[in-house]
Amino acid sequence: MMFQRDLESLPKDELEALQLRRLQDLCARIYANVPFYQRRFDEIGITPKDIKSLSDIKYLPFTEKQDLRNNYPYGLFAVPKENIVRLHASSGTTGKATVVGYTQRDIDNWANCMARSYASVGLTQKDMLHIAYGYGLFTGGLGAHYGAERLGAVAIPMSGGSTKRQVQLMKDFGATALCCTPSYALYLYEAAKEAGINPLELPLRIGVFGAEPWTENMRHDLEEKLGIKAYNIYGLSEIMGPGVAVECTEGCHGMMHIQEDHFYPEIIDPITGEQLPDGEEGELVITTLTKEGIPLLRYRTRDITSINNIPCACGRTFRRITRLKGRSDDMLIIRGVNVYPSQIESIIIEAEGTAPHYQIVLAKEGALDTVEILIEVAENSFEDTIKALQKREQKIQKTIKEFLGVSTKVRLVEPKSITRTEGKAVHVIDNR
Ligand code: ADP
Ligand code: ZN
Repeated sequence: MMFQRDLESLPKDELEALQLRRLQDLCARIYANVPFYQRRFDEIGITPKDIKSLSDIKYLPFTEKQDLRNNYPYGLFAVPKENIVRLHASSGTTGKATVVGYTQRDIDNWANCMARSYASVGLTQKDMLHIAYGYGLFTGGLGAHYGAERLGAVAIPMSGGSTKRQVQLMKDFGATALCCTPSYALYLYEAAKEAGINPLELPLRIGVFGAEPWTENMRHDLEEKLGIKAYNIYGLSEIMGPGVAVECTEGCHGMMHIQEDHFYPEIIDPITGEQLPDGEEGELVITTLTKEGIPLLRYRTRDITSINNIPCACGRTFRRITRLKGRSDDMLIIRGVNVYPSQIESIIIEAEGTAPHYQIVLAKEGALDTVEILIEVAENSFEDTIKALQKREQKIQKTIKEFLGVSTKVRLVEPKSITRTEGKAVHVIDNR
């Protein structure tokens, strides 16, 4: 089902014409209202009138997270404060927070994008959504909430925390969908088991998980444990919040339609800044075509993915991005080898007798990087002998060495010994 069929299935040429009109309008707005952009345009000698086609976007300047920080808090806002109706801030995973502002129309577009996202994974107005993304400055909770109401479904505003109570209410209220980070979904599963609630007996049928990188293996694990279909949703506060891109039900798992009428995507080479063709992997750059509060031109997300332009069976014409590996700043360089934590996660979840809770600890021994990976063993396999545990540790070490080319020290630890999070999981501790 599509929530806004006319827009979501726009023929390619009409979509591109709309994008171009909106890009031209965006450039005119930011040139007139945001001194930062006016300076940038002037520096490279371009005026908004020079934008004649969508491909001209490659001549326009990028915006980086640092630009938001340099102009903290309101320097990049494009409308007077009286037109702003809400503020949010990024969760600050990678440094100082950044502030974003929304006009009423921004909030409205966001609700539509989220309602589209829910419809895209098979939710309808008959569903009840247990929303366990944090409510507050973080965009997750309120974004998920407004979208649920817009769809006409029931929003249950749980936010994070009180995990024990959450599982009880999930059961009592009969939620049919769960919205949270994949790591929190796992935590809720454990809490349910502890409370004697069997998640497989609940009416829960769909999970809408995002806000952090996760893997295909983690998806299977969550689907099995919770008895649901689990879908991936992507977003970031600088661009809007959740609902920028989302999977659909039509067998395109792992790939997320990006809401192209609002967000124009490009992939660039993160080093040279050069635009890359569809299909090639690189850094995702997004231009907000309709945003009024804080419109951003060619925002460098630091997220690594590729754009897939193969038509999808669901009928949406929006291109898809492939599952995100993590941000370019998440990439670990271990003795010269590039590794994403999500690649390690994939191997851990496949290993027998381990729980999907892990932590990667980096340190330096002399000039050498050392990597210790702590992995919880599954509840039912902790009674194994020390010898059996060591054998399993070695096996995982060997697989990581084989597939990723880095030597690590794997240590199996007791169940529940790695701290649980209510929001985004902390998988890497870098002591170098
Ligand atoms: P912060 O940058 O402080 O974490 P946000 O809460 O805005 O602030 O987080 C947005 C980031 O979260 C994205 O840029 C991306 O790195 C990550 N993210 C969001 N959704 C997903 C997803 N489905 N898969 C992988 N990463 C995601
Ligand atoms: Zn689709």
